[in-house]
Amino acid sequence: MTDHADPFEWSGGHPALDFVNTLDERPFDPPIENLATYRDLVRFAELAKLIEPSVAAPLRKLSDPACSRVARRARKLREHLHDVLAAAHAGQPLPQTDLDAIGAAIQVAHAARALVVSHSPGLAGHRWSRPVAPDTPLHACALSIEHLLVAVERKRIRKCWASDCDVYYVDTSKGQHRQWCRPV
Ligand SMILES: [Zn+2]
Repeated sequence: MTDHADPFEWSGGHPALDFVNTLDERPFDPPIENLATYRDLVRFAELAKLIEPSVAAPLRKLSDPACSRVARRARKLREHLHDVLAAAHAGQPLPQTDLDAIGAAIQVAHAARALVVSHSPGLAGHRWSRPVAPDTPLHACALSIEHLLVAVERKRIRKCWASDCDVYYVDTSKGQHRQWCRPV
């Protein structure tokens, strides 16, 4: 269980967009950083259902010096995704340097998983090879970004219309007319 209120914005409709939205109030100086610490990252990944609670619990107790590096890499990964989304939203070519950085994170994340026997629906499924390694929540975020970029229709990825709001979301509304990050 968590010990204080959930600080995250969950209006993204996709965990990778919720991940981007962890830097809240982007147009303001300074924005609100909700992934300031490694524990924040673990908490986000758990609440976003990117990692199991049974994996999150031991990760929360880690005091490895690598943890703060992992949190920093996660924030960088998030900003690479943000720059891709911002370019797409502006109708500009997607920056390849950001895609390269995201691709590298996805590759490492794939390598952190093993194939194991599964009960349903397929014969096998993925498991973390070392679930309690500090970078597991980072890998989980990278795999979620891969899904967003590869499997979600581009026209459904939208930014809130409010000029002072940089929240991204997947528009799943009928007719795709959703314009705001939250219901108004
Ligand atoms: Zn908004």
